[in-house]
Amino acid sequence: MFNCVLCEEQTCYVSKFCDNCRVIKNIGNCYGYVEIKNVLEKVCIRNIQQRQYKIDDELKTQIEKEDKGDETYMKPKTRNYKTKEEK
Ligand SMILES: [Zn+2]
Repeated sequence: MFNCVLCEEQTCYVSKFCDNCRVIKNIGNCYGYVEIKNVLEKVCIRNIQQRQYKIDDELKTQIEKEDKGDETYMKPKTRNYKTKEEK
């Protein structure tokens, strides 16, 4: 009884890899591990600009919720943004 050598989480009785990691291993055997690494880095890892897009989008969503939720809410004069009506 050993842990999977790739994920190190699942217990394996017969093989060195758990079922999910066996699939990953087979894909790596077909396409090459460098290609797999490049795809994972490109798809799963966000760079600074991409993270900033997400932050900006979350802030914009939060501001829109504030605008919708309270009729008495006064728009802060220190922020530079446009509501849906102003766009
Ligand atoms: Zn595994």
